[in-house]
Amino acid sequence: MPHSFKRAGTYGLVLASLVSMTSISLAAPGGNDKARSAARSYLQANGNRYHLKADLADLRDGVTTSSLGGSHVQFQQTINGVPVEGATLNVGLDRGNGVQLVVSGYKANLSQINTTPRITANAAIATARTATGAQGALAAAPQTKLVIYAEGSAALAWKVTLSTDEPAGAWDVFVDALSGQTIATRSLLRQVEGTGQVFTPNPVATLKDPTLRDQDDTNYAALAGAYRTVTLHQLDGSGYLRGPFVDASSKNSAKEPSFVFNYTRDDVRFEQVMAYYHIDRTQRYIQSLGFSNVNNRQQTVKVSTFSYDNSYYNPSNGAISLGRGGVDDGEDADVIVHEYGHSVQDNQVPGFGSSLEAGSMGEGFGDYLAFTMSAQGQSGAYLACVAEWDATSYDSATPPCLRRLDENKHYPEDVRGEVHADGEIWSRALFDLWNALGRTTADKLVLQSHFYLTPTASFGDGANAILAADRALNNGANQAKIRQIFSARGIATN
Ligand SMILES: [Zn+2]
Repeated sequence: MPHSFKRAGTYGLVLASLVSMTSISLAAPGGNDKARSAARSYLQANGNRYHLKADLADLRDGVTTSSLGGSHVQFQQTINGVPVEGATLNVGLDRGNGVQLVVSGYKANLSQINTTPRITANAAIATARTATGAQGALAAAPQTKLVIYAEGSAALAWKVTLSTDEPAGAWDVFVDALSGQTIATRSLLRQVEGTGQVFTPNPVATLKDPTLRDQDDTNYAALAGAYRTVTLHQLDGSGYLRGPFVDASSKNSAKEPSFVFNYTRDDVRFEQVMAYYHIDRTQRYIQSLGFSNVNNRQQTVKVSTFSYDNSYYNPSNGAISLGRGGVDDGEDADVIVHEYGHSVQDNQVPGFGSSLEAGSMGEGFGDYLAFTMSAQGQSGAYLACVAEWDATSYDSATPPCLRRLDENKHYPEDVRGEVHADGEIWSRALFDLWNALGRTTADKLVLQSHFYLTPTASFGDGANAILAADRALNNGANQAKIRQIFSARGIATN
C-alpha cells in the first residue's frame, strides 16, 4: 500500500475502501497459498480474455483477503519489477477456490522502458511541493515510491504523497524519474457537500418584521421562520468549514465529521456557517457571470473575534473579520457580503480605495454586492435597505438600515468626506443601473469596470469604466442609459 498517513480523521473517510483491502486475512495459514495458485492457474488458462502475457511474468503477488464469500487475490502488474500505477487484477474465488469474478485493471501493450531513475526521491519531493504549493509544514513525512505511470504512454515516475493541515490538502504527485518534470497531480481529499442552517439574508428581511431585536444573542421563537437549510458546497472533508473559496475555521471552530452544521444564532458556530455559505455563494455567482479571476481564492474569515460592532476586510492579509457588538455581524448576510465586496475589489485592483472617491466607490460597491446577492424576494422599502438585522441595534427607521441604495445624494454638494456616507452617491448609481439593465447585465458591467481602475480612481473614472465595460461586453448597447444614470448623480462622463 502506498498510502501511509497519520491523519486518520481525513483518511478514514477518503480511503475506507483501500483500508478494507488490507484487512487481515481470516483464512487459515496455507489457505491463501491455495487460493493464489488457483487464481494464477485460472489467469494462465484465460489470459487472452484479459490480454495478459502467457507466462504472467509481469504479475507480482499482492494481498489476499478473505470475505464471507471466499477469498480475493490481488495481482500487481509490473515492468522490470516496478509496479504499474493503478494496474491490478482482483481474482474473486469462492470457498472452494472456484473463480467467481475477475476484475482487471491490467494495461495491455505497455512498452518496455528504462526503469533506472535519474533523479532522486528527494528531488522529486521538492518538485512535488512546488507543484502543489505545499511549501510549509507537512502533516506527515512525504512518502515516495517508484512506479510506472501509464495513462497514455508509460513513464518511470516517483509517486510522491504529501499532506498538509493548514490548509487541509493531500496529494499524489507523479514526477518523471528521468526528466524530473511533473507528470500529474491528484488531490486525495474528497470534497463533500455539507448542509447547514443559515439566515438568508437576515431575519428582518426574510420575515419582513422590523420589530425584531437582538435580545442579547438569544435564539427566541419569533426567529424560527428565518432559518433556512442550505447546501455547503465542496467542503474539504476535514470536518471544518473549509472549501475552495472560504476558510471559516478559526478558534472555537465548527467541526462536524457528519458535515451537518445545524446551529442557532446563540452559538458562535452559526456565524461560521453564515460566513461560509454567503461568501461561497457570492464567489460562485461571480463565476457564473463568466469571471474566473475575480477573487477566485480561499477567503479567510473570522467571526465574533472582537466585541465592538464593526467588521472589516484587511488588505494586508486578505482576511475578513466580523465583530459581535449589537447583533453579531456574522448573522447578517449583507454585512458579510459587503466585506467580501472589499476583498473582491482589492483582488481586482490591489490597494483600491486610497482616495476619498475611490474609498467611497469601495463602500458603495460593497453595499451593491450585498444588495444584488439578497435582492431576490425583497421589494418595497426592503429592496434597497442594507443589513436590516444588524441595523436593529442602531437605526430606528422602518425597516432599520445600515445604509440604503436609493438615497438621492448628488455630487458634489452631498459629499461629506466620509467614505460610507459618500458611498451612497455611488451605490445609488449602481442601483439605478441594476433597475435599468437587469441584474445580470448590471452585475457584469460593475465587476468588469473594476479592471479599468486604479487605487485612487475618481467617481468620474468609475463611471467611464462602466461605459468602457459596456463597450467591451455589449458593444456599447447601454451607453445612453449609463450616461443618464451618472448624470443624474452629478457625475460627469467622457
Ligand atoms: Zn465597508
